Amino acid sequence: MSIQTADILIIGGGIIGASLAYQLALRKPSDLKVVLLEKRGLAEGTTGKSVATIDHQQSTPLDIELRQQSRTIYLELAGEFPAQIGYKPIGFLHTVTTPRAKEILERDIALQERMGVPVEFLNPEELHEILPILRTREILAAGFCPKDGYLDPYGATHLFAHQAQKRGVEIRTDTPVTEFLVDSERVCGVRTSAGEFQAAIVVNTAGPWAQTIFQRAGLRLPLKLVRGEILALKPEILLPHTLPMTLNRETTFYFREETGGIVLLGRLDTDYNAPRPQVDPDDYYGWEQRPGDQHRSFVFRMLQSHLPALLDAPVHKGWVGLRTVTPDAHPILGPTPLAGLLCAVGFSGTGIQIGPACSAYLAEYILSGEKTEVLKTFGLDRFFREQAQD
Ligand SMILES: Cc1cc2nc3c(=O)[nH]c(=O)nc-3n(C[C@H](O)[C@H](O)[C@H](O)COP(=O)(O)OP(=O)(O)OC[C@H]3O[C@@H](n4cnc5c(N)ncnc54)[C@H](O)[C@@H]3O)c2cc1C
Repeated sequence: MSIQTADILIIGGGIIGASLAYQLALRKPSDLKVVLLEKRGLAEGTTGKSVATIDHQQSTPLDIELRQQSRTIYLELAGEFPAQIGYKPIGFLHTVTTPRAKEILERDIALQERMGVPVEFLNPEELHEILPILRTREILAAGFCPKDGYLDPYGATHLFAHQAQKRGVEIRTDTPVTEFLVDSERVCGVRTSAGEFQAAIVVNTAGPWAQTIFQRAGLRLPLKLVRGEILALKPEILLPHTLPMTLNRETTFYFREETGGIVLLGRLDTDYNAPRPQVDPDDYYGWEQRPGDQHRSFVFRMLQSHLPALLDAPVHKGWVGLRTVTPDAHPILGPTPLAGLLCAVGFSGTGIQIGPACSAYLAEYILSGEKTEVLKTFGLDRFFREQAQD
């Protein structure tokens, strides 16, 4: 059996693993060996199923900063050719339908403006001007960030991996990790279909597969899987020139344009506590999974109240990806209880928009050993600290 050595192993080649490989490559000494091990192909997991929007209309300074930093990383990565990551600034609308939600929206917009986010507060008439197709009867107000939009998550992942590879990182696709090698209660490598890889540091970035991987090391983290279902409609009516990403904060119903006159419709469901059926992430490679009846009737109800013009639009296709959610809908970054095993997991509905910045913080931690505020905020121990205080 072949035995190879490295300094750092990354398990998983979605947006998180690939951006971590890139961030390590930017910072590492030339003789430090980093290997990314991917079970299938790059971005074939959740990343490839994402609607991949970046949304700066957040409620905390850290949530806004991580998006600002990630956006900068994407633009730097793409360099002079932003088309390489397919960034389309179609704008992002947050709509609200209750007085309480309107108050929160106003408070959030004040914070976003202080932090330099170009966001506008819109009353229903102004909203109608931007998006005449939207029924504004129940909507009390909206926030609009014209700079936000979506990117090509597949292209961005490949570009991160390509740039990492150019700087010496080894990218091994079709190489599933099957077991951990443990010595004196610390991880010292992994076993894969292509033999053993020995390394002092192993990082789990396996998205929805992360829990299965932790279980192989005898760990269980607060992670659950939620089906993220997308219906794609191809309306026969002429759509507006751009159809911004539009999210209703109360129902979490969202939609946005896709190239080819298609509209994607989904729901931002990240509730850790809701009862969920067991799912096997391996069933979610490829495009066979279809949105269930519950999602279809949810979308139908939402079209009736928000977008009646699309009620008769034929379904073009549909797919399902898996969000990996944590109790506070924020990721877990950094060390785990097993020495040598680190992670960047549980990105919920935010891996595309905050993943690159989180990977930069994690790379700094791996190479320097110093925990920044981000690592402290998103450390696994936050869940146990909270339990201890209860
Ligand atoms: C419908 C939907 C819409 C979304 N929309 C947005 C959005 O608008 N904006 C946003 O920011 N986020 C969004 N997200 C969330 C975002 O897509 C995820 O947070 C992100 O893609 C997670 O990336 P990842 O690298 O952690 O996981 P993945 O992309 O799943 O990557 C994990 C990788 O690990 C590999 N792997 C698994 N097991 C092994 C093993 N044993 N050995 C080696 N490799 C292994 C897998 O093959 C996979 O490639 C959405 C998600 C869904 C489902």
